[in-house]
Amino acid sequence: MKYATVPNVIAGAPSEASAALPSIEVFNPSDGSIISRVPMSGHREVDLAVQAARRAFPAWAATPIKERVQVFYKYKTLLEQDIEELSALVTEENGKIASEARAEILKSAELTEFACSLPQITPGEVLEVSRGVECRIERFPLGVVAAITPFNFPNMVPNWSIPNALALGNTMVLKPSELVPLSSIRIAELLRAAGLPDGVLQIVHGGKETVEAICDHTGIAAVSFVGSTKVAKIVYRRSTATLKRCLALGGAKNHLIVMPDADVEMTSSNVVASMSGCAGQRCMAASVMVAVANVEHIIARMVEHARAIVPGRDVGPVISQQSRDRITRYIDEAVAAGAKLLVDGRGAKVDGREGGYWIGPTLLDYVRPDMKIAQEEVFGPVLVIIRAGDVDEALRVENASPYGNAASVFTESGGVARRVMERASAGMVGVNVGVPVPREPFSFGGWNDSKFGVGDITGRGSIEFWTQAKKMTTKWNREAGTNWMS
Ligand code: NAD
Repeated sequence: MKYATVPNVIAGAPSEASAALPSIEVFNPSDGSIISRVPMSGHREVDLAVQAARRAFPAWAATPIKERVQVFYKYKTLLEQDIEELSALVTEENGKIASEARAEILKSAELTEFACSLPQITPGEVLEVSRGVECRIERFPLGVVAAITPFNFPNMVPNWSIPNALALGNTMVLKPSELVPLSSIRIAELLRAAGLPDGVLQIVHGGKETVEAICDHTGIAAVSFVGSTKVAKIVYRRSTATLKRCLALGGAKNHLIVMPDADVEMTSSNVVASMSGCAGQRCMAASVMVAVANVEHIIARMVEHARAIVPGRDVGPVISQQSRDRITRYIDEAVAAGAKLLVDGRGAKVDGREGGYWIGPTLLDYVRPDMKIAQEEVFGPVLVIIRAGDVDEALRVENASPYGNAASVFTESGGVARRVMERASAGMVGVNVGVPVPREPFSFGGWNDSKFGVGDITGRGSIEFWTQAKKMTTKWNREAGTNWMS
């Protein structure tokens, strides 16, 4: 074991979880080695964390926002300064390759940069609504909030919530994925080094029981969740049952519509990068390509791109043995149901890292919309190709999915692009973009079963979620001669 058991962090100090629930092992997915252990916290630990966050709240909320964001200017510098070490840790616990891990840390820095701009974009509003009578709106923090995060971006997804929620004056309990708990500890250390007062951020490790304790705790005002749709629904229902605000981002099944006029090189390389990057473990990854009419020349080039990807060099492993088995089963069943295997990533091996959870990029053609692999989230480097006669048929395929995170179209026609932008049933739509992640200040968030709750998790859309507006009406100007709002 390379690292000691990961501690919880409460009021700025490491805190041991009670031994009521056994700790579990943390694996390096590249070779299957055990690198640490993580405690499974319960009600007691969550309550301690909430109490610490509650104690820290009054002073932090009373700190002017311009002062609060000074912490995040320093934090951003530390993220950039320590990028090699932070990205190596992401690679170690999550498996993604070095360049992807670096990009993740840079994205965390960009998210932090947005939080630094909050004083410039959140001033209140004021208007003299009648002679001598003024209405104003000011935003106030909610109090103690919580964030629950998934395994696929151990550094970035916590940073979707931490900088904005904290810069806006809240104090927080973070519950990272138990599969990748190490990065969150470095985040807490860097924030402390940047001057974040103790108690403003707590980290409580664990799984289902920890999440349930967060949902049930009446001292928590709001919860952001990022993970699978199954758990997003549980968290949304359970946390709103205790009258919390909840924004729960779920899974995805992103459709990329490829038209015959699309640029061959850009389309083939973008689609393959989208489905294979981070081993397909991105909620924005291409999952279904809807091939409209004759795009054989583009598919042929995609096959070449996919075959050129070397596991261990260009793409990392998936997160666990269980995950690899599940992905392999999806491919086996699709082939048995009549799909045509163009590129087969099953059984991939990497010399010297035989214990890793490897699976190479896989392309399956002639998949029917009614097949399981066309409907369910696979969350691995697998792209299915569904054939459609025209863009309307392609849109019907896209619209039938219960998810709605992202959709893209590849075309040179402005009219077709506009039609897809208007009619795709997804929260984030791209034209000639394989991974249409909106960058700050634009907000991240899907539709349908990919998101429950109002607002978005990043950018401007998060401001409303992490604050409450106070509407104030004042009457000072007696000389105005009006006294109508008694
Ligand atoms: P997951 O749903 O298994 O876990 C997410 C969090 O929920 C973890 O912290 C985990 O400990 C907790 N959890 C797991 N099972 C639970 C249960 N039964 N009850 C309560 N809590 C539980 O997700 P994951 O496997 O870590 O991450 C992959 C999923 O996340 C994919 O579905 C992916 O699409 C999704 N994701 C979505 C977005 C988005 O923006 N929509 C972003 C990243 C990942």
